[in-house]
Amino acid sequence: MKNMLIAGNWKMNTNVFESQKLVEYILGFVKTNATLKSKVLVCPPFTSVYAIGQMIENTKLLLGAQNCYYEEKGAFTGEISIPMLEYCGVSHIIIGHSERRSYFKEEDEIINKKLLAILEYNLTPILCIGETLDERNQGKTFDILINQLDKDLAGLTGDTIERVVIAYEPVWAIGTGISATREQVQKAHDFLRHFLVGKFGEKANRVYLLYGGSLSEKNADEILSIENVNGGLIGGASLKGDSFCSIIQTAEKYII
Ligand code: PEP
Repeated sequence: MKNMLIAGNWKMNTNVFESQKLVEYILGFVKTNATLKSKVLVCPPFTSVYAIGQMIENTKLLLGAQNCYYEEKGAFTGEISIPMLEYCGVSHIIIGHSERRSYFKEEDEIINKKLLAILEYNLTPILCIGETLDERNQGKTFDILINQLDKDLAGLTGDTIERVVIAYEPVWAIGTGISATREQVQKAHDFLRHFLVGKFGEKANRVYLLYGGSLSEKNADEILSIENVNGGLIGGASLKGDSFCSIIQTAEKYII
């Protein structure tokens, strides 16, 4: 069995008007291709989440957020809680993105708290993990992945693991136009599947393993055809409706 999730991470791009235009395009594609089996998710900036939630209500398009805080409410200036997002129609929340880890100093302990809180609200966390170029060059890629998974997934059991989506995003491939090669992605995803099944048991076979890092309509076929790749987390190419929809179309070919 091979499921697919194609997720667009719009990062800090698009105002409300631009978000709506982009969703109009993607929604048009999703409605025209009524038999789509891939899950399709868009993660706009917070300011557009409510408006997009209204647009996609009762459609097959899914809505995600790029971050959250783990407390329910209170004196946390500038933060957004999970129930606030849920109210807007959000089903998935990205956590641990390398940009948050590096620019905003988000550490594994916080990422783990967010992950557990998201599950408590019955939403789906998309946990991003990945190595820097230095770490890869030093042969530490798998150690880094194990360390992140051990810390970020602390408290999960064999029953809850399948509710988590994991995005393997080599930091050096994000936004650089240099994707990991087919061989690098295959090795990393086989390793992740094996590690997760070893740690959590059989249900980890159902975890969506996304690849992220300069995924585009040009390399989608090469990457999405890999056995343990269940879709992509897409930044740059998700801001162009035609590129994003072309990636969705490619994903459809590999659903078994
Ligand atoms: C991302 O934002 O998670 C990402 C993978 O970006 P890009 O596709 O632009 O590399």
